[in-house]
Amino acid sequence: MSVVALCGGIGGAKLALGLYHALPAADLTLIGNTGDDFTHLGFSISPDLDTVCYTLSGLADQVRGWGRGDESWNFMEGVRQLGGPDWFNLGDRDLALHALRSDALRRGESLTEITARIAGQMGITARLLPMSDDPVRTVIATPDGWLAFQEYFVRDRCAPKVVGVRYEGAEAALANPAALAALADPATEAIIICPSNPVLSIDPILSVPGIRAALAKATAPVVAVSPLIGGLAVKGPTAEIMREMGLGATAASVCAHYGDILNGFVLDEADAAEHGALPVATSVTRTLMTTLDDRIALARFTLEFARDLGKRP
Ligand code: GDP
Repeated sequence: MSVVALCGGIGGAKLALGLYHALPAADLTLIGNTGDDFTHLGFSISPDLDTVCYTLSGLADQVRGWGRGDESWNFMEGVRQLGGPDWFNLGDRDLALHALRSDALRRGESLTEITARIAGQMGITARLLPMSDDPVRTVIATPDGWLAFQEYFVRDRCAPKVVGVRYEGAEAALANPAALAALADPATEAIIICPSNPVLSIDPILSVPGIRAALAKATAPVVAVSPLIGGLAVKGPTAEIMREMGLGATAASVCAHYGDILNGFVLDEADAAEHGALPVATSVTRTLMTTLDDRIALARFTLEFARDLGKRP
């Protein structure tokens, strides 16, 4: 079953790992968010693509929730000793990836090519595509002004109120042609929107011209999995941001936010009461992914649901 999934970092990568186990690797294409990308200390950093790579390759840290396991922190210690900024942690092994990517970008390689090479080196056999090779930068409007995404997310620990979000560069960005082709491919049988933050991880992808239209035109059913369970995020500021932006913070509001690009929506058991009141086909299951088996079970459930929905006319 040929499948395309849109995903951000932590929550997205969890379901991506389930899909990776549930499908033959060659059948899975992941479209990753690059709105969180930024340059720090001269390095080009792609946090969501890296989270997906570390998760699929088994290199991710299981406790910290970001970065690699098997990590050391000599670089950060050196930065601190020299009075450099230490609000964004870069592990030594993680830094190797950023250094290689930065060097390749400077030599004119595209982010798509670099990502494919790095994923291949990590042994990942699914296809991971950045949404675009052009820079798109998520910036956050707060009552005190605009913040670059990582200033909001990491430096200020999501504390500022979010009153708006912009995806800078999106209008001029070219969608990844391979991503557009995968979405339009008649052989694609399901398009999954992973349980990622709709505003910070999925909307940047949808903001790249052509991607939303490709989802709307695809013959494959588009199914989203709710990142909110009982009105709460499993991790991160999804509920707060959606509430602060006036979108509501329930599974139903996530479904409404995606609007008519969706054919199906997977809700958690905790939100079963919303089942039936939504404008698309819904299916209820346990969506909390604690173990690898949970990830695989949710992936299988979502694929089965998409298969039952069938191709769109
Ligand atoms: P980020 O880019 O690292 O913030 O990661 P994502 O945007 O991909 O993921 C953040 C979202 O994942 C949050 O809204 C979480 O509620 C959601 N999430 C994390 N773990 C789970 C889980 O086990 N089940 C579900 N349904 N959502 C999850």
